[in-house]
Amino acid sequence: MRRVVIVGFGLGGMGTARHTVEFVEDAKVAVIGDEKPYVRHKLRLIPSGEDISVSTRHLESDGVEFLEDHVIKVRRDQKEVELRSGKRIKYDFLVLATGANPSSLRKVPGSELTYGFRKKSDVDLLVDKNPSRVAIIGASYVALHIADVARSVGAEPVVIVRSRLIRRSLEPEISAYLEEKLREHGVKFAKGSPKEVKENGVLLDSGDFVEADMVYRATGVSPEITLASKCGLDLHEGWVINVDRQGRTSDPNVFALGDAAIIHDPLTNKPEYAGIGTAATIMSFNVAKAISGSKMTLRIPRYQKDVFLRGIHMISIGWTSPEAEKQGFNPERVEMSGKPGWGEKSYVVYDKSTSQVIGFSGIATERNMIREKGLEVLLAMLRRKKVGELISG
Ligand SMILES: Cc1cc2nc3c(=O)[nH]c(=O)nc-3n(C[C@H](O)[C@H](O)[C@H](O)COP(=O)(O)OP(=O)(O)OC[C@H]3O[C@@H](n4cnc5c(N)ncnc54)[C@H](O)[C@@H]3O)c2cc1C
Repeated sequence: MRRVVIVGFGLGGMGTARHTVEFVEDAKVAVIGDEKPYVRHKLRLIPSGEDISVSTRHLESDGVEFLEDHVIKVRRDQKEVELRSGKRIKYDFLVLATGANPSSLRKVPGSELTYGFRKKSDVDLLVDKNPSRVAIIGASYVALHIADVARSVGAEPVVIVRSRLIRRSLEPEISAYLEEKLREHGVKFAKGSPKEVKENGVLLDSGDFVEADMVYRATGVSPEITLASKCGLDLHEGWVINVDRQGRTSDPNVFALGDAAIIHDPLTNKPEYAGIGTAATIMSFNVAKAISGSKMTLRIPRYQKDVFLRGIHMISIGWTSPEAEKQGFNPERVEMSGKPGWGEKSYVVYDKSTSQVIGFSGIATERNMIREKGLEVLLAMLRRKKVGELISG
């Protein structure tokens, strides 16, 4: 019997439990998490009454044990974890799927007055406080989830943007178009960086003041590495758990995945931080395969699709042209805006030297109009297809 202990009830932890049951015949799986399982990327649907909880019934009937508790220590020499309740659990394989936390606002006075947005309790707090105006610092996907929730509770969201929306994942024209569409849905924007957060809003470096009853920060995440660093696992650049392509840490009996760990980019082959659900899901497959003894790994692309305010559909895949350039590619773009299936605005990015597809971003405001093309681009990118094959096909 192989005892597999998984820490975290998120996408990564739950996915690993499911795949371990599937691939490892003699596994005895225990999952420990400090929140009840739910779908994190659906948090914005809570105010409209949607049930986003995840049932553990099927896995429990397959023998998986769920413990609602917090792991306080990993003793690698004894292959055991210690829980806050005092319980100790032995493992043969440990999987750290501990996720991430909203990054703090460094060097901004008053940052302690801001809220993060990551957990169900964060949405409950926004609903309870019933604000009339919410300021959101940051222009990430999560910032737009907060704006979405604010709109659903009747508050006016003001997104404070330093450069442009979702800069690392969208072509510049798509950021601009997204901003236009969000304005039509009642989202306000303020340009600049926060200089100081006050009880009643945010002072910007431009001197403008954004009034708000609540201030959120959505400037990225910090991987939850407390357990990993305390038990001496190797960290990549000191801030995220280092793993190989199968998710194995510097200890062959300990795996890490999802928002707590790096991925290996399929285009550059370099370690990257993804912090997206797609990566957590694919990594959970790879980890379970590794525990089963298989060498098989799926590649992990940067792929994100999202829908805001129930009508704005976004997709981003691989590298944008500015990011591709930083990675050493020679990027060129083909505009596909308005072509059947390609959404209202979209660009395929390819490398001029090889013609290989290396990225895509697009926006559509009709339901699912762009989803299929997004999947075609994803496959083309992973199969190293040339741009001509993709757009003529
Ligand atoms: C608002 C929002 C919207 C998002 N939208 C999208 C989207 O549209 N598409 C997409 O791809 N991604 C999206 N993401 C990102 C996605 O949710 C994450 O990438 C994904 O949840 C990562 O899964 P995970 O299992 O690594 O971590 P998590 O989902 O964070 O789960 C980790 C869990 O481990 C628990 N934990 C941590 N330490 C311990 C411990 N010591 N003991 C016990 N439990 C512990 C944490 O409390 C948490 O419950 C979104 C994120 C947010 C916040």
